[in-house]
Amino acid sequence: MDNLIGRIHSFESFALVDGPGVRCSVFLHGCALRCKFCHNPDTWTHCDSLTLMTPPELHKKLMRYRPYWKSNGGVTFSGGEPLLQMEFVTETCRLLKKDGIHTCIDTAGQPFRPGDEAWLAKFDALLDVTDLFIVDMKTFSDRAHRELTGHGNANILAMLRYLSEKRKRIWIRHVLVPGVTDDEQELIQMREYIATLHRVRRVEILPYHTMGVGKWEKLGLKYPLEGVPMPTAEEVKRAEILIGAFAGRN
Ligand code: SF4
Repeated sequence: MDNLIGRIHSFESFALVDGPGVRCSVFLHGCALRCKFCHNPDTWTHCDSLTLMTPPELHKKLMRYRPYWKSNGGVTFSGGEPLLQMEFVTETCRLLKKDGIHTCIDTAGQPFRPGDEAWLAKFDALLDVTDLFIVDMKTFSDRAHRELTGHGNANILAMLRYLSEKRKRIWIRHVLVPGVTDDEQELIQMREYIATLHRVRRVEILPYHTMGVGKWEKLGLKYPLEGVPMPTAEEVKRAEILIGAFAGRN
């Protein structure tokens, strides 16, 4: 497996919000979605800081941070979209699991291919070495998802169902954008769907922010949500109630 090469955008060596405990987050290059609120558009196609690594090289680098992780921290693969480099991520997770490290995949689920047995076999291999999936649920309806990201979400909902059937631990996150992802019926439908899934340990609202706008400008891209405000505390609270936000045990 040493011939696997990962394309890595960047690292966060002391991440506090990318899963349980203190974590090292690995941001992988590439994503097929085009979320209007994306704060990492520099991971899409163009990347000034691309690092190429094999799984053993990445594993060795990550293990330097082990003293920070204590009993409940570990490594999170994010992006971009980590499932676009699934074999590389799987092999790195396999090495980490040999050392007893907690592993997490933060995904939007777009690459999931229900019905593709070869793809699912690779996904199953990833499941075997992953402790937690953080799934970004952007909208519930396919139409709204297309409007927001350029892609439908039937396969993403299918991935959640698959993870549930495999009894994998799941956290669900929803970015709240006023006037864009705060529709009452959408949030209620999400809550009802989530309630049908096993082992969902946490449901969170992430308030939309504009910290990535400079990256869009640097890439010469027009920011689609110009003028959209960040949600107020009251709007976040309302959405948390509608979606049924909670933080359970890991
Ligand atoms: S899935 Fe993540 S990286 Fe991809 S476009 Fe959406 S916010 Fe950006």
